[in-house]
Amino acid sequence: MAETKRCYQCGRKLTDKHIPTKLELSNTNNKFYEYIPEGHLSQGCFNFGSTCAKRVLKTGELDYKAKHKAEMRLDWDGISGT
Ligand SMILES: [Zn+2]
Repeated sequence: MAETKRCYQCGRKLTDKHIPTKLELSNTNNKFYEYIPEGHLSQGCFNFGSTCAKRVLKTGELDYKAKHKAEMRLDWDGISGT
């Protein structure tokens, strides 16, 4: 059974049309990386939409405003992907 993937930052559903970008979260400095630096411990990979992934990679951190919105949106399952 295919699970629904969501962007970890904005909560948008990632369909086959939106190929998720996997970013790895470092347990060492709590930042996201495309490729985790050598010597960092990994907390695992998270799925992001491509736009969000680019944004996250700039700073290595989530945009907490977007994340907050996503959490509110997750209460009702009617996200329409644009
Ligand atoms: Zn997103």
